[in-house]
Amino acid sequence: MTLDFDKLRAEMVEDLRKRGIRDTAVLQAMNTVPREQFVPNSHLEHAYYNGALPLPAKQTISQPYVVALMLMALKLQTHFNVLEIGTGSGYAAAILAQIVQQVHTVERKEELVEYAKTRLNQLGYVNILIHQGDGTLGWPDAAPYDAIVVAAAGPTVPLSLRDQLGENGRLIMPVGSQKKQKLHLVWRKPNGQFGHKILTPVRFVPLIGSQGWQKRDR
Ligand code: SAH
Repeated sequence: MTLDFDKLRAEMVEDLRKRGIRDTAVLQAMNTVPREQFVPNSHLEHAYYNGALPLPAKQTISQPYVVALMLMALKLQTHFNVLEIGTGSGYAAAILAQIVQQVHTVERKEELVEYAKTRLNQLGYVNILIHQGDGTLGWPDAAPYDAIVVAAAGPTVPLSLRDQLGENGRLIMPVGSQKKQKLHLVWRKPNGQFGHKILTPVRFVPLIGSQGWQKRDR
């Protein structure tokens, strides 16, 4: 059986719209990026299934609806400089790169840095820089960021990340225990203070690092 990925992609986007994703830029980007190139070959037939899928190194490629929800909350604009923590497959970085000017993405596992690099290079993205390291510390060299998205769940919002937000910058990440979390949205107000709002329940793999979970907590 051959799979019509263009059709499946369009159906996924229609489903996202029905579930309340109304950000045109996000929907357009998700209608463009070939998710089938980011999922492992063993899961090609589920490339457009609305759920998380396994990646090497016991990680997961996030559910499309949750990716869309997080990016919608960031109110992305074309001139934005964006930081993503947890590159994984590179899928969400590709979506971001369709919408904004510059994407920096940090991944702690070398195996996944290579996995994402191969795919993003093949697709010809020139506005994504992949860095290997502990993303709980952010990526200070390219700060401040207009938006930060963390694709792994921590016990709190790391202060290093929050401090790398520019004025009116928005950060979204899952916060909670290692089993259950809620999306937290943090933004820097013009007076330098931070706003904080708690959104929907989600389930992500753990954010492991000096301002996240320690390896031995697992
Ligand atoms: N955005 C990805 C999904 C990421 S899954 C996609 O679209 O496919 C979460 C990722 O966060 C995993 O790859 C995991 O290795 C990574 N991660 C966990 N802790 C991290 C840390 N401190 N810094 C950077 N990456 C981290």
